[in-house]
Amino acid sequence: MQLQRCVSAVKSVKAVIAVNSLRRIPEEYKPQTFFGEHDLWIYVPIYDEKLCPTCEAHARDLVFRGSELRSKFKYLKIIDDGRIYANVHPNCRCELYRVIGVEQYLRWLEILEQRKKEEVET
Ligand SMILES: [Zn+2]
Repeated sequence: MQLQRCVSAVKSVKAVIAVNSLRRIPEEYKPQTFFGEHDLWIYVPIYDEKLCPTCEAHARDLVFRGSELRSKFKYLKIIDDGRIYANVHPNCRCELYRVIGVEQYLRWLEILEQRKKEEVET
């Protein structure tokens, strides 16, 4: 459990570094692509008893660079500019949402924490 917490802390630090890198790219150089090094995506599962270990592990990794998506999510489907269906396995309900800024990213973290808590309570 201690190790688990440690691992997830390291992953969050990685996520923070990735999100912070958004700050260094001037607005005009931000291309609206899906699979680029500077496209960041946050993994959003549905926290309930059906969440499988594979998807849970992705959720712990939390943030993915666009350049990682095609190797990690072979069957992904683009829904729109800001959303990708992860399609990890049949009946997968997970989605990846585009991270466009630090504030929005922090809001996502709050939302995910809240959803996790709600699942534990029910
Ligand atoms: Zn899933």
